[in-house]
Amino acid sequence: MSWDAAKRVSAALGGFGLSFGLCSFGFGVVCRAAFGLRLSPVLVGVKLYFAILVSGLSAMSVVVGDYALDPGLGRVYRGFGVVVEGGVIVDAGEGDVLVGRYPRYERLVVKRGVIVPSFVDSHTHLAMVLLRARAGLLGMGEWFSEVVLPRERLLGPAEVGLGSLVGGVELALSGASGFVDMYFHEESVLEAGRRLGLRGVYTYGMVDNGDPAKAESELRETRRLADLVASLGDRRVRTAVAPHTPYTCSPALLSEAATLARERGLDLHIHLAERADEKRLTAERFGVEVRDWASYLSGLGVLGGGVSPVCFHCTHLSQDEFSALGRGGGFAVLNPTSNLRLGNGAPPIRSVLSSGIGFGLGTDGAASNDDLSMLSEAKLLALLAGVGSGLDVWGVLRALTLPAERFFGVKVGLRMGCTADLAVFRMGLGSNPAADPALGLVFSPGGFKCEYLFVGGKPVVEAGSVVGVDVDSLMDDYERAVYSVEGRLAGVGR
Ligand SMILES: [Zn+2]
Repeated sequence: MSWDAAKRVSAALGGFGLSFGLCSFGFGVVCRAAFGLRLSPVLVGVKLYFAILVSGLSAMSVVVGDYALDPGLGRVYRGFGVVVEGGVIVDAGEGDVLVGRYPRYERLVVKRGVIVPSFVDSHTHLAMVLLRARAGLLGMGEWFSEVVLPRERLLGPAEVGLGSLVGGVELALSGASGFVDMYFHEESVLEAGRRLGLRGVYTYGMVDNGDPAKAESELRETRRLADLVASLGDRRVRTAVAPHTPYTCSPALLSEAATLARERGLDLHIHLAERADEKRLTAERFGVEVRDWASYLSGLGVLGGGVSPVCFHCTHLSQDEFSALGRGGGFAVLNPTSNLRLGNGAPPIRSVLSSGIGFGLGTDGAASNDDLSMLSEAKLLALLAGVGSGLDVWGVLRALTLPAERFFGVKVGLRMGCTADLAVFRMGLGSNPAADPALGLVFSPGGFKCEYLFVGGKPVVEAGSVVGVDVDSLMDDYERAVYSVEGRLAGVGR
């Protein structure tokens, strides 16, 4: 059943929206009587009522699917529903029972629907959709110097914002309610993420290449972003201190970054051991010997003493390095498509598992993935882990969902008290609606379409479309922006 406008209005009329409207009417009357303020009680009431309605704050919904999956518990439920109120799940259980128990709540019953806590893209560069489908068969080094750097030099804040909007829409449609981004002009990424209503960790990727003046300006930019995020008071928005990599950031900058993270109580994010030659590059550029990454980072204060780094890629870490990172509260994010795409190898999933370190899954940017689909990434992770690794579909689904607790402080699950960050997939062609939906979601991603996405109870995707986004016109803008970048790159239009 679709969640059309008439249902929305009729459901809300019986609920909080009308109560709030009536209270607002009363507020208008009191203001007029007591203070002589020229407020029309009817107008105040109607305006506030609709403001609440549009903002989704009045949402009291019963969401019912044929199935529900709780990765934290490793459980499949049939005919399951959740009741959402005030951004959290206030009741959960058999769908039919809930519909009867909450007759005046908005009702969303999704045929062949699978309800699941929504996903987190734990490492991405959203704006890199502007550089999509350009990598060919280039390896990491050539890709970076020939594809990425020349184009990134041309990107201004508006282009980064537009690319981030495109990337955010793609992620939302893949069932992700949150992402962890690292880029420049990050305030434009932030604006795009907020516009869509997604959760985001927005970080400025610092690079100094050993230049002390550059290190200082990079730290200044990070402080500026942290101030901006703090000033917003938006619980969906977070930031972290993000030195780009150990081979592009001097030991001095890494150490300063750790101090800043400690002072501000922020996480520290870093690309680590993505490529096989990072120890050599670090030695050549900064004259330091790296025996193992965990010791190097802890020697600089980047691991331990209140700093628990989130490390992206980790393609070339040993089990001992993972264990040491894990003991220091570190967190690993695996990016299998990007690693394979750029010839960096496959993430060592068995070492990750046996070390016990917490881990998530990320797409990395579309420049090195070409796709921003969380389910495709999940399938690749499951395939790479392989038979006998101990990583079953629940482990994969946990990597997709549980990082939301670390990054956004939300409670992930389908139980009472959990945050209403939910995705509802509809099973279509390419799925088997009569079989295990957890296996289906991971191994037949093409058969599962994200029909609804809620972030803190607010709809971001409705009936398969992102709320408030005209995809056709967004694609026009995207195409124009890419032509503009490529044109400037070729010297046309200068
Ligand atoms: Zn990256």
